[in-house]
Amino acid sequence: MPPEDEQAHRRHAMVAAQLRGRDIVDERVLRAMEAVPRERFVGERQQRRAYDDAALPISGGQTISQPYMVARICEALRLTGGERVLDVGTGSGYQAAVLAELSAEVYTIERIPELAELARERLAAAGYERVHVHVGDGTLGLPEHAPYDGIAVAAAAPGFPQTLYQQLKPRGRLVVPVGSARGQRLEVAVRSPEGPALIHSVPCRFVPLVGAEGFEQ
Ligand code: SAM
Repeated sequence: MPPEDEQAHRRHAMVAAQLRGRDIVDERVLRAMEAVPRERFVGERQQRRAYDDAALPISGGQTISQPYMVARICEALRLTGGERVLDVGTGSGYQAAVLAELSAEVYTIERIPELAELARERLAAAGYERVHVHVGDGTLGLPEHAPYDGIAVAAAAPGFPQTLYQQLKPRGRLVVPVGSARGQRLEVAVRSPEGPALIHSVPCRFVPLVGAEGFEQ
């Protein structure tokens, strides 16, 4: 089988077993995960593992998130197609690509310049050149393009990120892993006049969010 077909077959199997086979039910999210070629966001040595049920190493000591966690975060944002979204912790760019399948405008921010540059190249090569990649401390959000309908954080925050919450539109949703460096819970906050309405989601384990409102380096 040609390598592209082999990866498409693995991608289809990943969606069936790891997403539908668990609890991902949003058909738009399932279609987006079927559409984005994850193998194009990992290095040569990870090609055979691209659809493993796991986070995988990328450069800079960071990771591309487990497919299930990407789907879970995207589903929690409840996107319908017209939204402006901020993705904090670009990493490989994979989640930004999935978000681009689900919304109208995607801004993504990464603190490690080399990772941001590689993600920019990989996103463009995979046809996602309309994703805006920024370098900086994502704990402070990206105020110049706020407010957002949704904010996805793909790194572990030590506490609830107030500045990010403030950059949401009314009824906007923030999805963020909150806890210690050793383990977190995915929290979903909906912006409301009374303050954040919080939904506690699944336990998870992400690399630390490092910055002014994150962990110290
Ligand atoms: N969503 C990514 C993907 O699909 O590849 C995975 C991201 S990885 C688990 C977390 C990323 O967050 C790392 O690349 C890390 O450098 C980045 N990060 C950590 N703290 C950050 C901050 N304050 N601002 C922006 N990026 C940050």
